[in-house]
Amino acid sequence: MKTINKFYINGEFVTPHGTEILELINPTTNKKMAEVTLGDVEDARAAIVAAKVAFTTFSKTTKDERIGYLEKLRATIKRRANDLTDVMVEEYGGVRQFCTMVTNNAIEDVSAMIDTLKHFDLERKTGKSRVRLQPVGVVGIIIPWNMSNGFIVTKLSTAIAAGCTSVVKPSEMSAQQTQVMAECFHEAGIPKGVVNFLNGMGDVIGGEITRNPDINKIAFTGSTGVGKIIMRGAVESMKRVTMELGGKSPNIILDDANLQQAIPMAITIAFLNSGQACAAGTRLLVPESKLKDVNEIAKYTVDNIKVGDPGSMETMVGPMVSKKQFDRVQEYIKVGQQEGATLLVGGLGKPKGLENGYFAKATIFTNVKNSMRIAQEEIFGPVLSIIPYKNDEDAIAIANDTTYGLAAYVTSADKERAYRVASQIDAGRICINGFMHDSKAPFGGFKQSGVGREYGEFGLEEYLEPKAFLE
Ligand code: NAD
Repeated sequence: MKTINKFYINGEFVTPHGTEILELINPTTNKKMAEVTLGDVEDARAAIVAAKVAFTTFSKTTKDERIGYLEKLRATIKRRANDLTDVMVEEYGGVRQFCTMVTNNAIEDVSAMIDTLKHFDLERKTGKSRVRLQPVGVVGIIIPWNMSNGFIVTKLSTAIAAGCTSVVKPSEMSAQQTQVMAECFHEAGIPKGVVNFLNGMGDVIGGEITRNPDINKIAFTGSTGVGKIIMRGAVESMKRVTMELGGKSPNIILDDANLQQAIPMAITIAFLNSGQACAAGTRLLVPESKLKDVNEIAKYTVDNIKVGDPGSMETMVGPMVSKKQFDRVQEYIKVGQQEGATLLVGGLGKPKGLENGYFAKATIFTNVKNSMRIAQEEIFGPVLSIIPYKNDEDAIAIANDTTYGLAAYVTSADKERAYRVASQIDAGRICINGFMHDSKAPFGGFKQSGVGREYGEFGLEEYLEPKAFLE
């Protein structure tokens, strides 16, 4: 069993002021795996002071110096790539194929930010004036447990590129991942106080970050509910905010698509990270006339995917992160049945032989109406809703009939037709014919899926404050 009892503040691994202990349970085995010391408000304040002091010098570094730091960070993450992947697999039961992709994307994200910064004009002429973009200040970074390492790298590489300093509060459930990440930043020689990591509960550490006037911006990834709490708190000192929130992303299969390819791909997209991904395509919209074929292919596909050991490269669905999340998934499966959706595969309970961990069955409901709760609410588990539509206009209307707008997917034999449909969907990132990652394309939500964008130049601008000089 591991003990995580140090925070990374001002360039050193220090003993926290807080003394409360949280037990972490391995979701695959249901056995205790670590004890984490949780910080208190004093710890949060110490980290904020360190970041504020560091900002006075780090904000004056040159572009080339910051590129140098990012290059060292990329080299360290590459060297520690296996550790980063392994700790994700162990700590939250992330399946190895997904966690490997997260680590590789993190390396690519740093490269993309280096390139973005190289070509980004921090001084520009606009109209008759000179405009300088300067770092926004101290950033409070609050993130969830899923893909924790990926979010830390994306946000911190952007903050460093901008010349900001940061205090990072990951989920209390991802303390081991945080530990390895903090070691990476330390080993990369990032100057002291520029990045600070601490573990603690959302309302305690997250609450202090939200309220403290020395935090100039909050970069949050998490649920829409918590995002709203943070935005309300941040308004008091008029902090800048970027919010990457929840989703209920539609995946439209157009009537000319090859179903034998499109449906297995749709299931991969729905069950990304065992369904615990904000961008998972959890509403599969299919032509009414093809519903029978879709159901057959979907059932066959799910009957043949591997659910189980997250450490195996073949596994598609691993355990839910916690008992709470497992119970939530069970509750939604009940709701789907009560609402009258047809259970195609999966259902309540645990798969045979996996009774110890928090494994849910890979589940598909078909003939789902978009008004049902299982089609409107984020479940965050391996539960897919198949929704039939009449024609393209109907598919677009159903896709947009949601409070969310994070991601969407469109599949067609005709790419231009897919683009025409995609351009009418209210979502921040739309993938045509598959699932892709682009470390320079803006990522963020329409509607209640968020505020602002991450990645590339759009992401960098969120960490900068424009100042105009009129002569
Ligand atoms: P969560 O919203 O419960 O927690 C996220 C973070 O906020 C955690 O660090 C938590 O400790 C902290 N927090 C909780 N209460 C707080 C408060 N009152 N003040 C300040 N901070 C507080 O989310 P989760 O369960 O960890 O993660 C799942 C959610 O994250 C899902 O809704 C998912 O869609 C979303 N998510 C979004 C994206 C995206 O990029 N849009 C990516 C991944 C996950």
